[in-house]
Amino acid sequence: MSMSLETVLKTYEPVMGLEVHAQLKTKTKIMSGATNIFGEAPNTAVSTIDTGMPGALPVLNREAVTMAVKTALALECEIQPVSVFSRKHYFYPDLPKGYQISQYDRPYALNGGVTFYLNGEKRRIGLIRIHMEEDAGKNLHFDDRGISLVDLNRSSVPLIEIVSQPDLRSPDEAVAYLKALRLVLRYLDVCEGNLEEGNFRCDANVSLRRHGASKFGTRVELKNINSFRNLERAVTFEMIRQYQVLESGGSVVQETRLWDASQNQSHSMRSKEEAADYRYMPEPDLLPLQLSNQTVSKMKADLPERPIEKMERFIKDYHRTPYDAEVLTASKALADYYEDVAKATGDDQLSSTFIQTNVLAKIANVETDFATFYPDSKALIDLLKLIQGGTLSLNLAKEVFEHMLESKQSAEKIVSEKGLSQVSDDKALLAAIEEVIQGNPRQLAELKSGKDKLFGFFMGQCQKALKGKGHPARLKELLEQKLKS
Ligand code: ADP
Ligand code: MG
Repeated sequence: MSMSLETVLKTYEPVMGLEVHAQLKTKTKIMSGATNIFGEAPNTAVSTIDTGMPGALPVLNREAVTMAVKTALALECEIQPVSVFSRKHYFYPDLPKGYQISQYDRPYALNGGVTFYLNGEKRRIGLIRIHMEEDAGKNLHFDDRGISLVDLNRSSVPLIEIVSQPDLRSPDEAVAYLKALRLVLRYLDVCEGNLEEGNFRCDANVSLRRHGASKFGTRVELKNINSFRNLERAVTFEMIRQYQVLESGGSVVQETRLWDASQNQSHSMRSKEEAADYRYMPEPDLLPLQLSNQTVSKMKADLPERPIEKMERFIKDYHRTPYDAEVLTASKALADYYEDVAKATGDDQLSSTFIQTNVLAKIANVETDFATFYPDSKALIDLLKLIQGGTLSLNLAKEVFEHMLESKQSAEKIVSEKGLSQVSDDKALLAAIEEVIQGNPRQLAELKSGKDKLFGFFMGQCQKALKGKGHPARLKELLEQKLKS
């Protein structure tokens, strides 16, 4: 398919809604006391409840409910005072019970939304619902040996399914929504948010409608999207595919398609299943979940600041552009780091620039790396104060920063040991100026005859003579005076 999305957009408007499954970082499973782990040896964290042994009864995990409710509150949902777990029946080797316990017609959270900025513009994507359910196990296929084995460690790991309204209108917007949603979960520390590892999974529903049409077109559900890049590619591919079906006089069939990242295309998996196929029924072994108004209000009051709130506060309190604010709030750890530095130095701009150009260049993972990063915020504050006090120029500070990374020593120690402080003493600066003027009579004459550009040349030569340590502003001042005379 070599067609471009532009062609599609001339005639059609894309409509998308995402269904996101997020694994909750609880200590134990949602229906059993088995440990909630990832990446361990197969079948080492499985209880009789997870395998559905006769007589084993599920017990709802309080921690899972707490995390689920917190998330729903942060996403502005209405928490339902009573919600019900059901059995969703289907056969698959990774589901020994023959059904998955899932909230169905009475989920614990309705409505809500995710707010984020896309190209500097504020967008809010509505949510239809969030429900709790248990994960299934995993089939492991060993093609070389011609066998498949079942690992039940994932069986009954807590999930919340977050279903968006069909509010998304472009691949970029879908990606931005998914990133913003993930950030909320990470700020709350309820989910790892890793698409590649499968603890944050996304199915995308895509349809097209002619510009001006009020009714939505038939949707196709795309599964197996395991990165942001694949989300963008998969929905774009699907829009083009539907365009070609429609333009050749056909109609889109409602179906589930599997995205194949290695082929860069999707394959039909099955025609869309109907709810009736699952023979949903209320789970007889669990009471309806009751959440008191009091409990919910307390949780709401205790909610930490959300990413969008932090971002808007950074725009307002620290005079950041939306772009800067978004970068600086990309994780809670980074936002705290910036805020410590900006507060202590009183220079929002210097803190922002220095962190973005120097610190972030050394940070691979904004979620985890700050825990062990040096210079930590305190050490960086000390470094920036040396700039503010005139001891270091910005360039020297960058050099000191590199040494700090390597030796894990304080800025002051490095400055005194390496003799890196800048020269702001007039006598030393004037001596350098004198030397440069003497050494470059031709350039001096040209400058005096009006070739102003040469001022930069003289600044450069002076800095060279001072080994790059001349106080830039003072040096410029003195050089200007000298050249005028
Ligand atoms: P199901 O479980 O059958 O997939 P859900 O209600 O869980 O149904 O999810 C439906 C998803 O599809 C929602 O995210 C919704 O926004 C989206 N959706 C519904 N209609 C359309 C449509 N015509 N085009 C694109 N997305 C749609
Ligand atoms: Mg669904």
